[in-house]
Amino acid sequence: MPIINSSKTDPNKILPMQYPWAREHYRNAIANTWVPEEIPMQDDIEQWKRPDALSQTERRLILWNLGFFSTAESLTANNIVLAVYNHVTNPEARQYMLRQAFEEAVHTDTFIYACDSLGLDPDEIYGMYERIPSIREKDEFVIGLTRSVFDPAFTTDGVANIQRFVHDLVGYYIIMEGIFFYAGFAMMLALKRKGKMVGIGEQFEYIMRDESLHLAFGADLINTIRSENPDIWTDAFTDELRGLIVKAVELEKIYARDACPEGIVGINSESFSEYVEHIADRRLERIGLGKHFETPNPFPWMSQSTDLSKEKNFFETRVTEYQTGGLDWD
Ligand code: MN
Ligand code: FE
Repeated sequence: MPIINSSKTDPNKILPMQYPWAREHYRNAIANTWVPEEIPMQDDIEQWKRPDALSQTERRLILWNLGFFSTAESLTANNIVLAVYNHVTNPEARQYMLRQAFEEAVHTDTFIYACDSLGLDPDEIYGMYERIPSIREKDEFVIGLTRSVFDPAFTTDGVANIQRFVHDLVGYYIIMEGIFFYAGFAMMLALKRKGKMVGIGEQFEYIMRDESLHLAFGADLINTIRSENPDIWTDAFTDELRGLIVKAVELEKIYARDACPEGIVGINSESFSEYVEHIADRRLERIGLGKHFETPNPFPWMSQSTDLSKEKNFFETRVTEYQTGGLDWD
């Protein structure tokens, strides 16, 4: 039975399973369980309060990323629960989405924890998505390109509607979680490597580990819908999807330059833009669209501690890791 549009699918009958990849992602996600309070914030609080511990550029970069992520995480949770879940009736895929929704709640909690620990003004941080144009543009782009699936009258019947649905899934999973999160991940992990804001940096690492699974699930979902509905994959449609991803890269580069206009110790600010291009090529390849940028990875250390190797490691992860709460995927 297909993953969407089967009147024969009983969403309550999970066994026997049809899509083992959905189950695999669920089990890997469970093995990655964490909560932000496990990570001490004392050093971060001390650095944040000491006037000479962080440069103005570093402070700006931290604020911009807290500002973007604090609201982006709930936007993602709402997308899953209110829009995607409704249309994907397969029970094992739904089991994964329930877990993903929980992870987005943990991520939302992480930014509450950061705001509280550092004593930040919540109105300032949670208002940044309206006030800072480079953040607002990203959110508006995702909201705009995921309109159809939020329309209560929307169904996934027929080629044109399935294309709309896949278009919106690309908006959520590939663009929001797969591109718009990644300049921020690179910035916060770059700081952590310099021994700055290591508590928040570690929380970003945990979030990134979760997001790389969200992305993996999203790509498997898109690729499954495509293989079950090959008619949707026309040249016009793939051109449209590629165009959206290229546009998203432009917005993410504008955001990266705005969050970090001057670079930080040892890193030129343009490297973050190159990293976004590099990551976008990986996303394009993952859904069968082929590379666009051919930009080499400026941060080989990111691929050590992040998505590709972590996804590989996800499949080797044991449930015991949850009990130790270890972060040793790299
Ligand atoms: Mn998240
Ligand atoms: Fe996510």
